[in-house]
Amino acid sequence: MSSNLLTVAYIAASALFILSLGGLSNQETARRGNVFGITGMLIAFVATAINSVSAYGLLVGMILPGAMIGAIVASRVAMTSMPELVAILHSFVGLAAVLVGIANYLAATTLTGVEATIHEVEVFIGVFIGAITFTGSIIAFGKLRGIISSKPLMLPARHLLNLGMLAASLWLGYEFMGGELLTGLQSLLIMTTIACVLGIHLVMAIGGADMPVVISMLNSYSGWAAAAAGFMLSNDLLIITGALVGSSGAILSYIMCRAMNRSFISVILGGFGGGTSTASQSAQPAGEVIATTVEETAELLENARSVIIVPGYGMAVAQAQYPISEITRSLREQGVNVRFGIHPVAGRMPGHMNVLLAEANLPYDIVLEMEEINEDFPATDVVLVVGANDTVNSSAMEDPNSPIAGMPVLEVWKAKTVVVMKRSMASGYAGVDNPVFYKENTRMLFGDARKNVDAILGKLSALAKV
Ligand code: NDP
Repeated sequence: MSSNLLTVAYIAASALFILSLGGLSNQETARRGNVFGITGMLIAFVATAINSVSAYGLLVGMILPGAMIGAIVASRVAMTSMPELVAILHSFVGLAAVLVGIANYLAATTLTGVEATIHEVEVFIGVFIGAITFTGSIIAFGKLRGIISSKPLMLPARHLLNLGMLAASLWLGYEFMGGELLTGLQSLLIMTTIACVLGIHLVMAIGGADMPVVISMLNSYSGWAAAAAGFMLSNDLLIITGALVGSSGAILSYIMCRAMNRSFISVILGGFGGGTSTASQSAQPAGEVIATTVEETAELLENARSVIIVPGYGMAVAQAQYPISEITRSLREQGVNVRFGIHPVAGRMPGHMNVLLAEANLPYDIVLEMEEINEDFPATDVVLVVGANDTVNSSAMEDPNSPIAGMPVLEVWKAKTVVVMKRSMASGYAGVDNPVFYKENTRMLFGDARKNVDAILGKLSALAKV
């Protein structure tokens, strides 16, 4: 392929990636955004293969098993396990950057002078970011899976430890660039080991409630690792794609930090969200909860003029979005104003709830973000909380000692009646008790959300026929 044609192919792929990101920012255009992304990747892949590969047999032999494993894993993964898949995929990007960097260093190069120096800096930084992304993502995967405790690991002098590892890496960088104590390869490999430990330590120190930010932060790191690999391989498209992923991940991390009222730096430094603080234990909400039944809930909904449904992780686990969509249709047909309130970190990954509701064919215009709907709770007759907990926790606003104090939440307790659907009194992901369950206007509907929502739908249909 001529270099002009390759450039055209790369520009087309880059434009498609940008269009893809634009499309993904809105539910209505998300499908189109995905198609743009897939097309861009296909163009990029074919152009690169034609341009820089001669052993096609080997290429196919490498790609086929990978593609098959990827397709099988992606088709089997449940929506609730998607963040784990994303985390482990980030680790692959990190590992790829490390391997590309080391291979690049070992390969013979014709570069001299400033160019050689720049190349070495690219290799060193690429391997450093890649190694942190690799091990950090594995730890994030373990935490999301529950293999590793979501409590933050608080080693004594942990900030000093991080600083020490950073300083050691800088010194190794100096050695790598021509110091006299170690060979280049030795410096590179020792730095890789240190960066791997740093990645583990950084993510181990972050507690459960901050995991959403960590996932998007690792997403950003994986983008920068890919961009660094692009510099090493002199591949413009990889640089552009990596920069797009890196910056969009950083912007998403910032947006999520704002949604959780956390500063990005304090998230990175860790130690929050383990639900183990004495404050949370001393501020245990007390009192009786009022349990309710499917029949009472159906009647409440039937007699309401305005209803807000607040979904959370439990809705995803129970796969309750389909009967919820039916309930919404039935209530709207009777003139009830039904809307959805979505917290930015509801579920286990950004956009989790929106994807599930879209899957169940709910109209986009009744699915509102937290800021759009929070003011409307006081004028709402019934709020149906379906498997959400941390994202509707009033202690964030009412208890300055709460581990999630200051985090913006959906203010469901301000409605006339709140029905909370969950199986037990267990806490949510952040491990923090929820005083909303004990409020006078709250009714607890215990049991699996799917079963209960199905039963409510049955009752509503029966009531509609009377
Ligand atoms: P929570 O994790 O706070 O609560 C979910 C609730 O669902 C639980 O209290 C559980 O209670 C209930 N539940 C579980 N299964 C079922 C079921 N089958 N039927 C009915 N209820 C069920 O969820 P939220 O969505 O409110 O908050 C998300 C949390 O996850 C936040 O702390 C966020 O920081 C964190 N997080 C978010 C990520 C993101 O990117 N969105 C990523 C990683 C973490 P019970 O067991 O009693 O049924």
